[in-house]
Parts: sequence; C-alpha cells; structure tokens
Amino acid sequence: MSLEKQTILVIDDEQLNRKLLRAQLSVMGYVIWEAASGSEALEIAKEKPDLILLDVMMPNMDGFEVCRLLKESEATRGIPVIYLSAIRDAKSKVHGLALGGVDYVSKPYDGPELLARVKTHLTLRRQEEELSLYAGKLEQMVQERTQQLVHADRLATIGTFAAAIVHEVNNPLTSIGGGAELLKLFWNEAEPLLDRHMNEDQTGKLAKGLPRVGGYLEGILEGQRRIAQIVNTLRTYSQRGETGMAPCLLADPANDAVRLVQHRCKHGVSIDISIPDELRISCNRRKISQIFINLFTNAIDAMPDQRGTIHVDAVPANCYVNIKIKDSGCGIPDAMSETIFDPFFTTKGEERGTGLGLYIVRNIIEEHGGKIRLAPYDGAGAEFHIELPLLQ
Ligand code: ADP
Repeated sequence: MSLEKQTILVIDDEQLNRKLLRAQLSVMGYVIWEAASGSEALEIAKEKPDLILLDVMMPNMDGFEVCRLLKESEATRGIPVIYLSAIRDAKSKVHGLALGGVDYVSKPYDGPELLARVKTHLTLRRQEEELSLYAGKLEQMVQERTQQLVHADRLATIGTFAAAIVHEVNNPLTSIGGGAELLKLFWNEAEPLLDRHMNEDQTGKLAKGLPRVGGYLEGILEGQRRIAQIVNTLRTYSQRGETGMAPCLLADPANDAVRLVQHRCKHGVSIDISIPDELRISCNRRKISQIFINLFTNAIDAMPDQRGTIHVDAVPANCYVNIKIKDSGCGIPDAMSETIFDPFFTTKGEERGTGLGLYIVRNIIEEHGGKIRLAPYDGAGAEFHIELPLLQ
C-alpha cells in the first residue's frame, strides 16, 4: 500500500466542510472520496477506502449509526473511522468509540492535529494489514510443515510395515512356491496316468477337472512370483537401518546396475555411463546400485518395444556430484513429478508395477544425504537429477 494511493472517505452533509477537508488532505497526497449522507457513505465504503472521516450530526442517519453499520459488515469492518463532530461531551465520545471508531476529533478542529491523527491511523492500518498478511503466510507455512510431518510419519509407518511383511510373508511364500513347483513336477507325471483311467470315473468329474489342474498350478506359481517380487522390493526398503557405508567410486555401483539389468536390454537398449573416475562417494554400494537398477528398469519399461537409450552423466559441483539420468522413453508429465515418488503409485498395472521403485530410490538417496527430482518434461523422455555428497 503506497502513500499516494491511500484513500480517505469524507462523510459530511455540509458541502463546505467536505471541501475544506478535501483541500487540507489532498495537499498530503491522499485521494479523497466524498459522501453527503450516511446511506451514500455505506455504498461508497464497499470500495474499501483506507480511512473514514465521519461527521456525527447528519439528517436521516447520524454518524454513530453509520459507524455501527460499517462495523457490522464483514467487508467494511476493518476500515478505521475517525469521528469529526461539534458534539464535545465525553459521553458521546465514549459511545462513538464503543461503536468501533478509532478516534474522535472535536470541531472546530486544528488542521495540523487532524492531519497528524489521520497519518497515525493510516500507519496503524497499514501495519495491521501487513501483520495479517504475515499471519496468513505463517499459517500457510505451518500447514505445509504439518503436511510434511504427516507424510514423513506415514512413510516411517510404511517402513515398519514393510519390514513386518518381509519377515512374516517370506517363509510361507517360499513354502507355497516350493510346494507348487513340486506339485507341478508330480502333475506332469500323474496327468497322463489319470488320463488313461478317465473312463473308469462314472461321475465325469475327472474328465472335467483334469484339463484344468495345470492352469490352476500355473496360477498359483504366477501369484507366488508376483508376491515374491513385491516382498523383494520391500526388502530393500526394510533394510533401511543397515548402513554398510564405505568409500566407493561412483562409477562402480552404476556399472553393477548395468550388469544386473543386462538381461532386459536384449531388445535394443544401450546404457551409456559417463562418470569421471575420480568421483568418490561414501555409500552402501548395494543400495546405490539399487537406485540405478530401479531407474534403468523404469526407463526400459517406458521405451516403445524396449528399444532406446539411457545416458548417465555425473559432474562435480562443490561438495556434491550432480548425476543426470536421461532416457528416450515416453517421458513423465510435469503434473506427475511428485506423485511418482509416492509409495504404491504405478501406471504399469497390478501385474507389472509395485509403485515402490522410485519411493525406495528417494529414500536411499535421502539416507545418503542427497536429493532427487524429476527435470521438467521437454518432450523427449524422462530426466532425473540426483545430488549426492562427494567424498573429499
Ligand atoms: P513401478 O515401476 O512399480 O510402477 P516406480 O515407483 O518405480 O513404480 O514408478 C512409478 C511410476 O513412475 C511408473 O509406474 C511410471 O508411470 C513412472 N515412471 C518412472 N520412471 C519413468 C520413466 N523413466 N519414464 C516414464 N515413466 C516413468
């Protein structure tokens, strides 16, 4: 709010009084609006002047009533009102101030004194507005921080939950998988035998059920593989506590990852790693290679016909290394740039995605004191930027 733009509404039924006030206040650079009656004033006040100078003795609606109505309305409540009146008794002054006026100047008034009061109330008003702006910003910051804390809490819960699932599910899952494999072997031998004895079953149940058993077994094995995949992904996450930090060349875990995803590159994916030899970080090598594995796997999944390129570049910047991982896949819309890191967010469908890959990537990077973000979509593939502390 700049001084030149500060607006004062002068309410007085006497035109001469309004003229005089206009002349005195305009000199100070204020913009003056005028109202000759209470009802006209209430209309103009909706435009929110910065201050109101209000005569008390007016026909139809007196100044006290105008002030009462101004304070009643949400839109005009905050505008400071200074009474200007020939009524000088203390009782009237107290009454006017009780209705919400900020000051009471008796007529005939002293020009410089009135101007000083106007200036003070305008300053107070400006400070009040600034304060309420700061309060609003503070409120917003508190809300954002609370959301972050709730999110962090949720993530911690998921971590504990993940560890429990890995622990509880792994053994029975191994039994199911092993049992189903043995059953399949047995079934391969038993099926032809039963087939030969099909005619002996008068109920027809054998004829009906026999062709289906193989499919049932495959279904069990497929389900077991899917659960094992999820448990395996969760295992990485549940090993959060494990540190195993040691100095290592950044290129090593990246190359480990290339070897581990090689089987998925056979259709025509080339991974080009350009990491200077001297870049060293303190890390858990298995976990850092997991980051690259997850990012490479996602990149390959995003390529049409699993053909394309992945470039990894690393450049030192002060105490950090900036790693860029760019692929030639379908890319990720900017609107999804944060959601993709949420646990269980996947666009790959239940069969193929767990939605834990990037969530784990971000967690591992943060555990190592780094950051990851998705670069804005440029129409050609996805580009992730990772920052990790360098070993000096
Ligand atoms: P998942 O791979 O199991 O779906 P992620 O957390 O690894 O889980 O990835 C979440 C989602 O982010 C993916 O389903 C996909 O939509 C998107 N995504 C991640 N990486 C890429 C990429 N390189 N290109 C396009 N989409 C990607």
